[in-house]
Order: sequence, then structure tokens, then C-alpha cells
Amino acid sequence: MNFDSLNLHPQILSNVQALGYKTPTPIQQQSIPPILSGKDVMGLAQTGTGKTAAFALPIIQRLLQGPRSCVRALIIAPTRELAQQIHEAIVELCKNTKLRSMTLYGGVNINPQIHALKCGVEIVVACPGRLLDHLQQRTISLEKVEVLVLDEADQMFDMGFLPTIRKILRYTPKKRQTLLFSATMPSEINELAREVLHHPVTIEAGHSAPAALVQQVLFPIEQHLKTELLIHLLRNTEIKSVLVFTRTKHGAKKVALKLEQAGFAAASLQGNLSQNKRLAAMNGFRDGSLKILVATDIAARGIDVSSVSHVINYDMPGTVEAYIHRIGRTGRAERAGEAYTLTLQEDQLLIRKIERVLGSKLEQRKLENFNYDIKPAVSTHHPTLKYARPQRVERTQSRNKKIIQPSSVTR
Ligand code: AMP
Repeated sequence: MNFDSLNLHPQILSNVQALGYKTPTPIQQQSIPPILSGKDVMGLAQTGTGKTAAFALPIIQRLLQGPRSCVRALIIAPTRELAQQIHEAIVELCKNTKLRSMTLYGGVNINPQIHALKCGVEIVVACPGRLLDHLQQRTISLEKVEVLVLDEADQMFDMGFLPTIRKILRYTPKKRQTLLFSATMPSEINELAREVLHHPVTIEAGHSAPAALVQQVLFPIEQHLKTELLIHLLRNTEIKSVLVFTRTKHGAKKVALKLEQAGFAAASLQGNLSQNKRLAAMNGFRDGSLKILVATDIAARGIDVSSVSHVINYDMPGTVEAYIHRIGRTGRAERAGEAYTLTLQEDQLLIRKIERVLGSKLEQRKLENFNYDIKPAVSTHHPTLKYARPQRVERTQSRNKKIIQPSSVTR
């Protein structure tokens, strides 16, 4: 199948061509025809499968006909980064159609958003909280919405957005086309789908299957040596750009700081940052000036940077799905990628589950030139702290000889 056979407007086809898309991805092949014919769709697909264009192309085709300057398509996404990314893809796909798209998310001044809404826009890509603010202040009307997209629905559920989404839905017309995309189908999302979708066509693409091109390696390690090992890996691997995942926001900040101190162009992307800092980190990572982005799952969800050469799980994710999501951030758009995971003894159970889902054993690698024997300094100052900082290793003139200096500082 090629794009020509999808009956899209010539301007849309030319925009698709300008983006370099040659053939529709599986999710695009499956979803574009039913969406064009006005059907509701439930898509089981993760980011990286071409899902944005799968819903954006038929939406743009529909909006070419009909009124302008009123919100006719609404896309709701869990994070600001994802909303921004969807908006940017839509802008490219809408070129020379005079259709307008804008984002609505929190953490930035609401007034420019109100102004842009007054000027007239046909497509809105929004995060739930700020959208509800606009609705309650009556600065947006959803009465003319024809198509509603709920993207990364499972993530919105994880983030506690379902009650807000249900409130938002009350502002939209009952007669509308609804498209729901989710990487997983927890029962709450199934329930939401039953509420909001009418006779949906269900489409499944790339679900639970990591990009075939991603080489995955596990690095067993002890907690106190993780940062040392990460730095060692970064120094000894040819890396274009790397996304490092930590479990907590605090962890992301701390690891990014350590990497900066070690001389790497690194930054963290986590919910505690101001929107400006989040944008600066994302933009730096996209344009290549920042080689390393340390992020939490939530902040990194849906991020599409096609040149990510490595994903490093500093902390093991909580679930198999999260693991697959994370490693899906590399190996995108048919590029090869590598996913490294620093694993603790206690991660064994999850590793076995991941291997069962993948259907193969993951390579476990021990580095020959890394000192695994450094012991954690046990803290005597604080009864609840298990570890103190690892002992500092300093190199002497001779590259291989190390002097171990006990560190006196506790965490
Ligand atoms: P998404 O899953 O929407 O985040 O898309 C993942 C990446 O695939 C983005 O960089 C898109 O620009 C790219 N992409 C989407 N559709 C196609 C296609 N048909 N051919 C090649 N690349 C595509």
C-alpha cells in the first residue's frame, strides 16, 4: 500500500512526501481508511509506530471541507511534551491548507492561549488540566468539535486525569467521531472506551513488541555503583544521543547533575522543572546540543526524537510495559538503537517477565575494565541511611592503578 491509494487531498500528499514518508506504517494503513469513513477507532499502539499521522491525516482531510475559525478537532494528550510534538507534526502535515493548530497546556501564561483562541483555530492539542481551565473560564468552546482524539489514554489514567477527561467530554457534542489510542488496555481504559466509543474499529499495531532493531543488554550492578557504571558506559560507547531513565524526579535531577559534573552535556527532564526549562531541555536534546537527557517515565512518555542512539535504564522500570515503552524511544524510524539496563539483584523477577514477553533471553554483560569491587561506605551518622556515597576512585599517572579514597560525606 502507498499513500496515493488512501484518497488523501493532493496538498496533504505533498506534505507527506515533503516529510519523507514513503509508505504508510502498519497503524496508518489500518486506521486511515476507517477514520476517513467517520468510524470510531480504538488503537492499541505505542508512540513510534506513526500513530500521530495515523489520526492527523484523516482529520486534516476532513477539516479541509467545512467551516473555519472554530475548534473542530480536539486532541488530548497526557504531557506537554507530547502535546507539543503532536502539534508540530500537525503543523507540518497541514502546510498550505490554512488550517491552524495550537497547543493548550499549563505551566505557561494562559493569556496568549486565550488570544490565539479568539483569533480562530481549527485544531487544538491540549493537556487535560489547562483545557478544563479554559472550559471553566469559557475561553474555549468545544460545541463544534467533530473529532476527538484521546492519545496515550493509559498514561492519562496513570496520571490521574480520567475524572478531568470525563468532565471535558461533557463540553463536547454527543455526535462526534472519537479515536482512542493507548499502549496498554487496563480495565479502566476499557471502561472509558466503552463509554466514549460507538461501534469502534479496533486496531493493534506493534503492541508489546519492541522495535526489532533495538539491541538490549543488561548490566548487573550494585546500587552504589550505578552512577560510576553509567559514566563508564557513556565514556566508552559511541553515543549520538542518549535518553537515561530514572525512577524519580529527584533521581533524574541528581543523575543529570553528576553527569554534568563529569563533563557531559546533560540535562534532566522532569515534572519539577519550569515549563521553560522543560522546553529548553527538549529543544537542546532535539537539536543535538544536549547529548544526554535524564528523564522520568512520565516526562519522557511519547517523546519522539528519531536520532536517539541509546536508551539507558538507570533504574529498572516498574512494569514490562514501561520497559518496552522506554526501549521504544530508540530504534525509531527504522534506525538501529541500543538499550542498556542497569539491574539490581532484586530486579530478577521483572527481568524474567520481560524475557517471557520478548520470547528470548536478554544478554547480561559484565565489563572487564570496570571496578565492581568498590564497597559502599556504610554511614554511621544516620541510622536510616543504608549507604553512604561510594568511595571515590582516583586515577594515578598509571591508567590502571587506582587509589581508593574513603569518602566522608554521607547522602
Ligand atoms: P509517532 O508514532 O507518531 O510518534 O511517529 C514516530 C516517527 O515516525 C515520527 O518521527 C514520524 O515523523 C515518523 N513517521 C510517521 N509516519 C511515517 C511514515 N509513514 N514513514 C516514515 N516515517 C514516519
